[in-house]
Amino acid sequence: MKSYRTDVLVIGGGAAGLAAASAAAEAGRETILIEREDSPGGVLEQCIHPGFGVHRYREELTGPEFAARLVEELDASGAEVLTGRSVLAIDPKTRAVETVGPEGVRTIRPKAVVFATGARERPFGALRIPGPRPVGIFTAGLAQKLVNLHNLLPGRRALILGSGDIGLIMARRLHLEGVEVVGVLELKPFPGGLMRNVVQCLDDYEIPLHLSHTVIAVHGTKRLTGVTAARVDETGRPITGTAREFAVDTLILSVGLIPEAELIGRFVGLDPINRGPCVDSRWRTRAPWLFAAGNSVAVFDLVDTVAAAGESAGRFAARFAENDIPEVRKIPISRGENVLHLVPTEIDPGVPTLIHLRVPRPMQRAQVRIGEGIVSRRLIGVRPAEMVEVEVPVEAAEELAKLADVKVEVVEE
Ligand SMILES: Cc1cc2nc3c(=O)[nH]c(=O)nc-3n(C[C@H](O)[C@H](O)[C@H](O)COP(=O)(O)OP(=O)(O)OC[C@H]3O[C@@H](n4cnc5c(N)ncnc54)[C@H](O)[C@@H]3O)c2cc1C
Repeated sequence: MKSYRTDVLVIGGGAAGLAAASAAAEAGRETILIEREDSPGGVLEQCIHPGFGVHRYREELTGPEFAARLVEELDASGAEVLTGRSVLAIDPKTRAVETVGPEGVRTIRPKAVVFATGARERPFGALRIPGPRPVGIFTAGLAQKLVNLHNLLPGRRALILGSGDIGLIMARRLHLEGVEVVGVLELKPFPGGLMRNVVQCLDDYEIPLHLSHTVIAVHGTKRLTGVTAARVDETGRPITGTAREFAVDTLILSVGLIPEAELIGRFVGLDPINRGPCVDSRWRTRAPWLFAAGNSVAVFDLVDTVAAAGESAGRFAARFAENDIPEVRKIPISRGENVLHLVPTEIDPGVPTLIHLRVPRPMQRAQVRIGEGIVSRRLIGVRPAEMVEVEVPVEAAEELAKLADVKVEVVEE
């Protein structure tokens, strides 16, 4: 078994990992990026629709175009990239990272690690829908991979469960490929994705959206033959007498992403709502040498945010590898009313902090308040699909440090 040493090791070659590795290498640290697929890019490679990079490059790019730009930046930075290699385990005591690839098992011993493994899709089994398990039930990401990368159609007549952006984009994609998309069901009384995607992916193609609906049974022995759906009450429970049948051979599930953080959860702890590691303003986890960024921390909606987080994590990992991050007392922050996802969960008062949060329901007018209003921001037309960002300057962090308990809340006005 061979063993390597490096300053910074980046795990995962999606938008977050690519940006992190470039930043660490540009800061002059020896950097290795490990990606388990044969080429880097992550989920971007299968997202052939436009809508990427409006903030970072001031252009509307497709996913593969955005990934190509990041790969160019990485090549210029001098970081080493190892593809077709997976990380199997990380030893928190020695920082030894076990990897496996075509040439066998290798151990890498970095000074600092950036964890950027992305998120996985919530599968059918997690929905607890009774009945058989016929062929024809796909997660939206898998269906997207089949259509966009392998030129294969998942079926002929499809129903989509979940109106997050991936479900909406797949409704349009399947329709354009000749699949009859009979509708999109959404458990909540409002769409899960961006309004522009509801208009551009459903309304423009007359694909019906059924709010407050879910699937209560699937039918078929070998291949799916139909789905029973029902209206739900405000607690999400199906309402008796509202069942309706959809004759479809394909059910596409777009029911959420879960950060892929099991490799580190055991020793850094996962936030119960974000489901990724708790991080501070520098994207540092509770292990001082381990930084994390992108969808492995919490599910972000925009790749621009993910790439910026990766860059920041890479830069701070490089500084850690140089022993250049002072130990300071961090300020824990907690969720007050109307806050679901919250990143970071600790403020490092030495640097400006960008807080990312998600609200649980749409609100016309609201105000984000941090630490009893030491930092506040007014919001108009805020929706769960769009993360809210609030900057906490260093001077405000000094004021927050004087409070016993710092809460982040969204107050409806
Ligand atoms: C369908 C869809 C549509 C989207 N549309 C838009 C849009 O229009 N505009 C926009 O801005 N954003 C969009 N996004 C969001 C954006 O694409 C993602 O937020 C971003 O690309 C996630 O990057 P990441 O690096 O966090 O994760 P990923 O891209 O998932 O990358 C993680 C990488 O880590 C690797 N990995 C995981 N575990 C290991 C391991 N143990 N060892 C080695 N490698 C490992 C994986 O193979 C993967 O390549 C969309 C996302 C999806 C899924």
